[in-house]
Amino acid sequence: MSCAQQEKMLFRSTRGAFLDMSFEEAVFEGLAQDGGLLVPHFIPDVSNEYKKWKNLSFHELAYQIAKPYVGDEIPEADLRDLMKRSYAHFKDKDIVPTKKVGDVHIMELFHGPTFAFKDVALQALGNLFEYFLTRSNKRITVVGATSGDTGSAAIYGLRGKKNVECFILFPEGRVSPIQQLQMTSVLDENVHCVAVQGTFDDCQDIVKALFRDLKFKKSYSLGAVNSINFARIMFQITYYFYTYFKVFPNCDGKMSFSVPTGNFGDILAGYYAKKMGLPVQHLIVATNSNDILDRFFTTGSYDKSPVQQTFSPSMDIGISSNFERYLFYLFDEDSKILAHMMDGFNKTGRLSVDEAHLEEARRDFLSGRCSEQETLDTISKYHKDFNYTLDPHTACGVRAAEQLLDRMEPVCKNASVKHAMVVLSTAHPAKFSTAVQKATGSPPKLPEGLAKLENAEVRFQVLPAKTPSIKNYIEVTIPDPTGSRNVYTLKHYAASLVALGCAFGLGVLMGKRGQ
Ligand SMILES: *Cc1c(COP(=O)(O)O)cnc(C)c1O
Repeated sequence: MSCAQQEKMLFRSTRGAFLDMSFEEAVFEGLAQDGGLLVPHFIPDVSNEYKKWKNLSFHELAYQIAKPYVGDEIPEADLRDLMKRSYAHFKDKDIVPTKKVGDVHIMELFHGPTFAFKDVALQALGNLFEYFLTRSNKRITVVGATSGDTGSAAIYGLRGKKNVECFILFPEGRVSPIQQLQMTSVLDENVHCVAVQGTFDDCQDIVKALFRDLKFKKSYSLGAVNSINFARIMFQITYYFYTYFKVFPNCDGKMSFSVPTGNFGDILAGYYAKKMGLPVQHLIVATNSNDILDRFFTTGSYDKSPVQQTFSPSMDIGISSNFERYLFYLFDEDSKILAHMMDGFNKTGRLSVDEAHLEEARRDFLSGRCSEQETLDTISKYHKDFNYTLDPHTACGVRAAEQLLDRMEPVCKNASVKHAMVVLSTAHPAKFSTAVQKATGSPPKLPEGLAKLENAEVRFQVLPAKTPSIKNYIEVTIPDPTGSRNVYTLKHYAASLVALGCAFGLGVLMGKRGQ
């Protein structure tokens, strides 16, 4: 046993507060109250043990990765079981199979229930929520806004979970028909989809307003599942290790990963994998024309700019919410410097680092930007040359990898260690058929799970883009946030009166967590 496993892991904010939060508290806290992100006090070093894990199944490996972060907060058998259940519904026996296509290895992360990589983390997060909440007899109400993909992955992660209610807001008429069907065809009683008569920004503003309503936040124990949740990052570390063993069964090479990037969550997990001891050469940040991160890693300045719509909508971001975690490490975990930088960024929409820090950042990360035309060209080329259909997000990853392979070739050819370039494939091409059809001339084949959605029964509410309407809908659906749900009947009322006494005490306890 390494010392990492004996010590209890505690979490703190990147900006200095909450120096001793437990894993469980960190999972439910989301954003720290000082505006920072939660990070572990140290990153466990597994460089002496990871080679022993090379024959493990995906869920066993996920258990090994999670263990040092979770510490003794979940008994081993329970954590093992949780990981096993989380990956039981993936459609490929390898969970995340890797395929050699041309000069790159494509790591397919889209075999989960919603055909996008977010399933890998959200399937496990749903189980983790349920585990902690039933153990402590607490409830939460997850409220999230989505422009498409995150919503369905969250819903599939949380459907049917005990002690969790899930409200997902999406802009009416502005998500693709497939995305809407994926969300609204989930009929579990704890899932509530709302088509908001407005834009995605309206949805996000409403969610933020609900979280700012402290009385409401407390009485409903509002929770979030967005990508700043540390557990999501942690669950994503697994596939970096898993793929290493698939590509180098003898653990005798180095790998670079090209990651289609938006909020910087996926690639940050790769950075954690590297810091934990995995032989990673380069992490390549692949962006579309929303290129704030590419500009950072080439110039050292991080400048907010307006969001453009692209063929790869899940990467359409103005700023990357997880990037702060990386800056924290770049500045040697100095919360004072970081808090100062982020404060400046919030005021001006820009921050920059000096030459020395840029150089250091470029030792871990390279970057590449993919234009709309390049996205289509790359899909078309792989379709023609290799009979392999890329989705537009993955195409950006492939494009960035190719550019850098050209540059790296001389180094790698003569190197004594083997080197593999792995591209993370973040979505099934059928989820983004418009771009694929445009590039290849024919629509991608629908996998069975998506094809049968067309005739599915759906349930959702259409509501105006007003915070009070949404708040009212939540209150009517869950009249008693500590117990029953749905229609407010006399039976519920009686039951909730009985529960009120104990619930009051519980509410006080739960409220404490939010302070
Ligand atoms: C969310 C998402 C991304 C971006 O991942 P981040 O962790 O936000 O960087 C890329 N591709 C697809 C398909 C996604 O759903």
